[in-house]
Amino acid sequence: MSESFTALLASQDEAKNQTNSFVELTDADLMDGDITVAVEATTINYKDGLALTGKAPVIRRWPLIPGIDFAGTVISSENPDWKPGDKVILNGWGVGETHHGAYAKRARVKGEWLVPLPSSMSAIDAMIVGTAGYTAMLCVMALERHGITPDRGPVVVTGAAGGVGSVAISLLSKLGYEVIASTGRHSEHAYLKSLGATDVIERSELAGPARPLGKERWAGGVDTVGSNTLANVLSMTKYGGAVAACGLAGGMDLPSSVAPFILRGVSLLGIDSVMAPRELRIEAWQRIEKDLDREHLRAISTLMPFDALPNAAHDIVEGKVRGRLVIDMS
Ligand code: NDP
Repeated sequence: MSESFTALLASQDEAKNQTNSFVELTDADLMDGDITVAVEATTINYKDGLALTGKAPVIRRWPLIPGIDFAGTVISSENPDWKPGDKVILNGWGVGETHHGAYAKRARVKGEWLVPLPSSMSAIDAMIVGTAGYTAMLCVMALERHGITPDRGPVVVTGAAGGVGSVAISLLSKLGYEVIASTGRHSEHAYLKSLGATDVIERSELAGPARPLGKERWAGGVDTVGSNTLANVLSMTKYGGAVAACGLAGGMDLPSSVAPFILRGVSLLGIDSVMAPRELRIEAWQRIEKDLDREHLRAISTLMPFDALPNAAHDIVEGKVRGRLVIDMS
């Protein structure tokens, strides 16, 4: 019998009421996979908040250990690419949605889902970045691929004080971009400037119904909000610009028109982190190691114990969280 470990298990009763409980499990309770990992750090992303509060159907198999990303050390491996002692990161691939996830001291996953922990980063560092930060990097890489260089003009970041937004601002400013941060929280203006935002605008400026075309204000955008906000960002993007859309914190809809696309040649770049191919993930983590300011990494993070997860889930879906929440599992 293998030793037990603590996990946060989400269950649903017949009336579909969800409960989240800390339980003791053994390796036999984990799902199939060829790698077992000692989870040393995890995090709470907006999606994890939705999963734990049950506000959106993120969990699609019950009961389930939630948590979409972790960093840790391989304990056992039946996969030739990994050996015990290897330091690894996992983001997405349905972990915490259909496969037991990060909110346990152990995880069993497929080796092909893992990427190496960059050698200069700790498990905690990697989880400060987490899916939110890795998605921010995917957004920046998409803008670069589209030719949005710093000389083309400013880049707007919406949902700026959140996880994706904070990392996006830090990355873009380090890469030499002028960054316009859009936030609904006046109290976070100084924080956003400390991450490198050159200008901070009110969330309300982008929240109303969008005109087909507005004044050209930015060459690019990283949008985490969706809905009217994304529509306004598109309508104010300069000729030939591009917007990387990754989030829906303000809504799933997109009340826009084709005007920015057909009259200004603006491009909308869709960003998905969950099923992104492994080569792109490895490139993103290499870029994070190289381009993310380590002092900002500390500034954007709040370290929390495992038992703080259920309350933190409510805070993140209520938009009260600044930057990134990290759970020390060691
Ligand atoms: P956070 O909760 O940390 O940040 C979201 C931010 O959006 C908030 O901090 C707030 O910023 C702003 N916001 C919240 N509610 C509203 C609202 N009603 N209207 C306008 N703005 C709002 O979440 P994350 O940074 O972790 O994730 C951001 C989004 O990106 C989420 O929708 C998430 O699901 C998505 N995402 C998508 C991924 C993908 O693969 N495509 C991967 C990771 C995240 P402020 O207070 O500054 O205004």
